[in-house]
Amino acid sequence: MLDAIERCLALSQRARGEQGEALARTLASLDAALAEARAAMAPSVDADDHAVLELDLTGYLTAWSPGATRLFGYEADEALGRHVLFLYAEDDDDGNIAELYFDAGGEAGATAEVRRRKKNGEIIWVKMHIFMRHDDSGEPAGMLVRLAQVDEALSAADKINLHARIIEDSDQGVLITDANERIVSINSSFTRITGYSPEESIGKTPDLLRSGVHDAEFRAKVRAAMRGAGPWRGEIIGKRKNGELFPQSVTISVVRDEHGQISHTFSLFSDISEHKDAQARMQRMANYDALTGLPNLCLLTQLVGQAMTENRRSQEHGAMLVLEITRVGAISDTLGSDIGNELLCEIGRMFRATLREADVLARLDGHKFAVALLHIDKREHAAIVAQKLLATLAAPIRIASHSLQVGAHIGITVYTEDGTDVPTLIRYADVAMNKAAQNIEADFLFYSEEMNQRAKEHLRLESELRQALVNDELLLYYQPKVSLRSGRIVGAEALLRWRHPVRGLVSPGVFIPVAEESGLILDLGTWVLEQACRQIRDWREDNLIMPPVAVNLSARQFDSQLPQRIAAVLERHGVQPDQINLEITESLLVRGTDNVIAIMNELVAMGMSLALDDFGTGYSSLAYLKKFPISTLKIDRSFVVGLPYEENDCAIARAIVTMAQQLRQEIVAEGVETVEQMSFLRALGCDQLQGYLFSQPVPAVEFAAMLREGKRLAFGTRV
Ligand code: C2E
Ligand code: MG
Ligand code: MG
Repeated sequence: MLDAIERCLALSQRARGEQGEALARTLASLDAALAEARAAMAPSVDADDHAVLELDLTGYLTAWSPGATRLFGYEADEALGRHVLFLYAEDDDDGNIAELYFDAGGEAGATAEVRRRKKNGEIIWVKMHIFMRHDDSGEPAGMLVRLAQVDEALSAADKINLHARIIEDSDQGVLITDANERIVSINSSFTRITGYSPEESIGKTPDLLRSGVHDAEFRAKVRAAMRGAGPWRGEIIGKRKNGELFPQSVTISVVRDEHGQISHTFSLFSDISEHKDAQARMQRMANYDALTGLPNLCLLTQLVGQAMTENRRSQEHGAMLVLEITRVGAISDTLGSDIGNELLCEIGRMFRATLREADVLARLDGHKFAVALLHIDKREHAAIVAQKLLATLAAPIRIASHSLQVGAHIGITVYTEDGTDVPTLIRYADVAMNKAAQNIEADFLFYSEEMNQRAKEHLRLESELRQALVNDELLLYYQPKVSLRSGRIVGAEALLRWRHPVRGLVSPGVFIPVAEESGLILDLGTWVLEQACRQIRDWREDNLIMPPVAVNLSARQFDSQLPQRIAAVLERHGVQPDQINLEITESLLVRGTDNVIAIMNELVAMGMSLALDDFGTGYSSLAYLKKFPISTLKIDRSFVVGLPYEENDCAIARAIVTMAQQLRQEIVAEGVETVEQMSFLRALGCDQLQGYLFSQPVPAVEFAAMLREGKRLAFGTRV
């Protein structure tokens, strides 16, 4: 076949240089040679292993090779005589087939890649080579078609073109080097990222981008990849033309020739500096507290989690301290949140300076910090750290021009005794911290299982109490106060009761602390005031002459809105302010800000009187009382119990009564159960008593009955 082609070429060259008859002769022999060449090049149906078919000029099949059977699945007798269209994948497939027929008249035939349908229905891409067949006189007689399945949808040339386009347009930088590591090609992203133009880079080595930050071992790895050790993917710090370093994510691969020798190396890289910055920022945001810059709960959890895994191996212990800083809320309220925030930052700095390097200090939320001591030998070490932290807060902290005093409660858990995972440790330390907050004697406490049980019980009560408000399970009882002069009922205290559907009557001693802690006391307080006023109105409508009713107020209810809230309730029920007394506790006075005094003054100005409940159990001194507009002192039951036999109780009761008389305050003794107690108090000059001796707290109807029948205290034997 090659012979025939060569003869053809030689003849055609000769023809170009000849004229006239000689030319005609040469052309005739050229035709003959061409026919021979065509015959040699064209496949024959029998000889070729490919799928080969023959068509007549109208497209009907006249020959079908075994290869065609293999490719399409039709036997020769199924295909012969049919129009070739039955092999087409779609009706309008390769519409330019006519051109192909025309092209097929050329020396080398025509080539096309088209879709065809196999007998089993499968559509395949085939590469089709069409040759025109000529009869003896050189006229077209039919078509010879050779087909081979192509696996890909793209021709090789298209593929090369496409790939070149993709490389050029890629967002990634592309760098191709030859076997000598000289740069032979780059794309436009390479120039955009590195700053080097093709002229500046082609012919150079990739050292052009070398930053010098990687060590020899790392460079050896990259070199090995470039020498064919296998594709390599990693991050390399490169250097731009302007000298700036940049992180790049790189993939290096090699291209081998047919002998397996490396002909080229190509690197694909992207500039990940922005990505890295964002990653670093995100990392910070996810792991550090925005205000103080200290680790947050997330990072604390990770660090302690790791330490715990190590500790388990080495059987070591660690501790978790959760701290709540007190008074920050009040400081922020009065001086603004900027001062409050600055204060928290300063506390963070002070704690950090107190702790050892290896201890983790984190800010949890609000006013809470956590300290993880990753390795401790004894529980006491955690206590020492707690004391050190508390000592840090002993002196006032200066922020701007203010000198601010804060305190802290600390709860401590030890791992692995108390818990084996970080959330449990923090939760239990929180339980201990809340316990410490209620404890007057200790500012820090270790967690115990008993605490946890109580905390759980609290939570259950809290949710049940919420329901109680909705389900109308609350009611007020009234306990009379009687005059120690006349023996008559001169007042009553409204006391909250909870008729629990399962537990029966629950004592306020149980649920009031829960309500205080959860904030539910605000809703309860509102309910009590509302209910008491409604009751007073009902009694008035029943023509009952009512002494004032005292309502207990929680310190949490005591805000600047309180006077308006009370005024609204009084008005709603048409109750006069002097029909209501308010009982407050000493904790409110200890908080003692000007704000509290102003609110008290406002309440008194409205016509209500204030009584100080449980007097003697808190910290306030009688002298201190002068600052507050309080008209009544209630001596706590704990001092009444021992009367008249306990010397201390007698002395205290006597001192309270004497001082109160000088302050012109009325005195009510709580919890008087015996005639002896009553007589002693009466002799001291106490004004009223409230206690089981006269009556327990009773439902409203019973109290009304007592009033109606004019029940009086019998003074009995005089002391
Ligand atoms: P409190 O205000 O000091 O009320 C007096 C408590 O002493 C009442 O207990 C009363 O039942 C009890 N008591 C009165 N006389 C005697 C007696 O002779 N012997 C004995 N053993 N106890 C007597 P209660 O009703 O259980 O209330 C306990 C505390 O719960 C109250 O102490 C008060 O602090 C709080 N509380 C009750 N109702 C309310 C309320 O509506 N709001 C608020 N914030 N606290 C309330
Ligand atoms: Mg009271
Ligand atoms: Mg009391």
